[in-house]
Amino acid sequence: MASIDSYDEAISALAKLLKQEPSLRSVAAKKIEEITKELQAQIAVKTTNGNQAAEADPVDKLKNGFSRFKQEIYQKETDLFSKLSKGQSPKFMVFACADSRVCPSTVLKFNLGEAFVVRNIANMVPPYQKNGPFAGSGAAVEYAVLHLKVENIIVMGHSCCGGIKGLMSIPDDGSTKTDFIEEWVKIGQEAKSKVKKTHGHLPLDDQCAACEKESVNVSLANLLSYPFVREAVLQKTLALHGAHYNFVEGSFKRWSVGLSMTEPESFE
Ligand SMILES: [Zn+2]
Repeated sequence: MASIDSYDEAISALAKLLKQEPSLRSVAAKKIEEITKELQAQIAVKTTNGNQAAEADPVDKLKNGFSRFKQEIYQKETDLFSKLSKGQSPKFMVFACADSRVCPSTVLKFNLGEAFVVRNIANMVPPYQKNGPFAGSGAAVEYAVLHLKVENIIVMGHSCCGGIKGLMSIPDDGSTKTDFIEEWVKIGQEAKSKVKKTHGHLPLDDQCAACEKESVNVSLANLLSYPFVREAVLQKTLALHGAHYNFVEGSFKRWSVGLSMTEPESFE
């Protein structure tokens, strides 16, 4: 039998044979199934290798990312994007750490348009200081509260926070080695002092875990030093929430802070 080197010839030879011997159809079906599985496996390997190659090139990574977003989200959710093109009215403002593992939109499943997000080292909110050194954070709070009229502000701490570890590791004389980081995380100094007092006998990691939560409370108190935040909280048009996301355990705690603080509740 002459060798067959085209797909069409192979298929027509098989069809011819099965026409002559219909009893062989089930045997043929089994073989075709095997070939299909084999080819699927080959494609899977090729795709994985292709993706790995693309991941290795940062521009390809961005290009593929946007292309997938456009196909999977932008082109499908036309109503949402038509609405967003007219403006935003998020109900939430979130302060989260810049840590790559704690994106609040991923962790809390915020859709586009739902959360006004500020991310910085150790999710700190500096105190109100007009024309002070932390105008970036102040501008974001002012815009969210007075213009977007968000109804909730969440300050979300997290497990294994490098910024908090940095704060806890500043020597007692307050001397610093970094150009910016330690000066910034000192916003949480009050939390550090409290933790040193109550948990000072524990290993550093445990002190850090306590400070991750305490510093959220300092940030919430700082938020109340913004006159427009305080006013909105008093008017009950704005609620303040503390939160801690633990990505080692996969747990999330939330508590309220108004003029008094509630006990933390765990999310399932
Ligand atoms: Zn962090």
